[in-house]
Amino acid sequence: MIGTMQEAQALLKKYYGYPDFRPGQKKVIASILGGSDTLGIMPTGGGKSICYQIPALLMSGTTIVVSPLISLMKDQVDGLDSIGVPATYINSSLTYAQVETRIRKAARGEYKLLYVAPERLEHERFLELLSELVVPMIAVDEAHCVSQWGHDFRPSYTRISDLVRHLPNRPLLAAFTATATDRVREDIVLHLKLREPQVFVTGFARDNLSFTVVKGENKRDVLTSFIREHASDAGIIYAATRKEVDQLYEYLKRQGVAAGRYHAGMTDKERAEAQEQFLYDEVRVMVASNAFGMGIDKSNVRYVLHFNMPKNMEAYYQEAGRAGRDGEPSECQLLFSPQDIHIQKFLIEQSVADPDRQAQEYRRLQQMADYCHTPQCLQRYIVRYFGGEMEEDCGQCSNCASPDLELTDITLEAQQIFSCVRRMRERFGMMLVAAVLKGSRAKKVLEMGFDELSTYGLMKSRAEKDIVDLIQLLIAEGYLQLTEGKYPVVKLASKAAAVLSGEEKVVHRIRIQAAPAARDVE
Ligand code: ADP
Repeated sequence: MIGTMQEAQALLKKYYGYPDFRPGQKKVIASILGGSDTLGIMPTGGGKSICYQIPALLMSGTTIVVSPLISLMKDQVDGLDSIGVPATYINSSLTYAQVETRIRKAARGEYKLLYVAPERLEHERFLELLSELVVPMIAVDEAHCVSQWGHDFRPSYTRISDLVRHLPNRPLLAAFTATATDRVREDIVLHLKLREPQVFVTGFARDNLSFTVVKGENKRDVLTSFIREHASDAGIIYAATRKEVDQLYEYLKRQGVAAGRYHAGMTDKERAEAQEQFLYDEVRVMVASNAFGMGIDKSNVRYVLHFNMPKNMEAYYQEAGRAGRDGEPSECQLLFSPQDIHIQKFLIEQSVADPDRQAQEYRRLQQMADYCHTPQCLQRYIVRYFGGEMEEDCGQCSNCASPDLELTDITLEAQQIFSCVRRMRERFGMMLVAAVLKGSRAKKVLEMGFDELSTYGLMKSRAEKDIVDLIQLLIAEGYLQLTEGKYPVVKLASKAAAVLSGEEKVVHRIRIQAAPAARDVE
């Protein structure tokens, strides 16, 4: 036992001035203090720094923190300095003499924490220098960088296990990431050589955020009225491409909204200026690409509105999570249109060459689309996506809080759809399935002879768009599957069997017209 939770709590008060740990922090710290290698899966802003800083204070020697971003490293060390915790960093911004001085001081035990950029670990000489220190723990920030399956692979992260080997005594390892995929988590355990790690998924629920998905509306209209309603609030509008950022920015200007703009195609100077203006509330609205936000700690962002759906849930939650850092109620809106899926597919094709990785990216994109179509509590969907659980629905997302949503039995519609998918031999996309159910006279439907199927026109009293919505809901809920690739095909998942046989019902809170008169489906 390295220390007790009482001691940890006392340090939290003394150094950080906080009365309590967040529930997730408590578990992670208790695990480390109990002497276990620990993998903490926490969102950005979830408070992971304290999870290793406080145990470091309770251990004798210098904890090494591997961190990928030079600017964040400096901020962390400045922050620790200001509360009286001795810490320093080593990265490429220092001269060799400065590095040696810091290591000498560390060897004398003058620092509790030493932040190191991973690239340093590639030098054998540096590893030898570090082996002179007493190192009780290595904390690895952004640990997904060790995985080729992560979105940010850094070869030098694989040197962390070399560092461990160089040290005379094996330190404890505490790794942190906000990535959800199992493959990446397995890689972290494997490549960092964690020993029987305790794994905690914590902190993903943010109860001051209310999530909304808007579908099938004119996006620009929704955007302008949202901004008008929030005229005195600071907010970020994310768009998928630079071009879209530029167009929205111009559009808002024409609408008389004073907005800033930020994307990677602007000069460093322009971006720095835009960022400053936003940080100091000179402009309230920032229209930005995903290049905006890394390391920006503006606490009073009252809303984050996604004009386009991002490529996956990690990206979405990281961006949306920039709202309400101060704990005050804040809104996260996502404006969905099917076109967003095409944009993201195109971007995946452009940026990922390896077919396995492409398939993974498509899968994650589908999970993002599922978020837009799920009838469940959106906050619960997010927490589950990251591997956690929530006891109760959030009560404030657009699925929980819409008074016009009713608990509806859609078993019959589900059966009609499943049976049509089956009769089309599970070989076609959802638009064609919907067209057949609608009884469309479209060329493709007739050419394929689908007007002969018993399911043709089975849902003719509904709008084709509503049928597509239902199919998407059934995909989001795991009754149907979409194959990966450019032209996804709808297939039945195993969960559909019990519904088709009438053993199970499908009941959801959704907006739907009354079901048409029942007909046999098989
Ligand atoms: P991360 O490293 O996970 O992105 P940080 O460690 O920077 O997040 O923490 C995010 C914010 O939450 C910081 O402002 C931090 O001071 C605050 N914070 C962390 N733990 C607590 C706590 N137990 N009580 C209150 N605020 C906390």
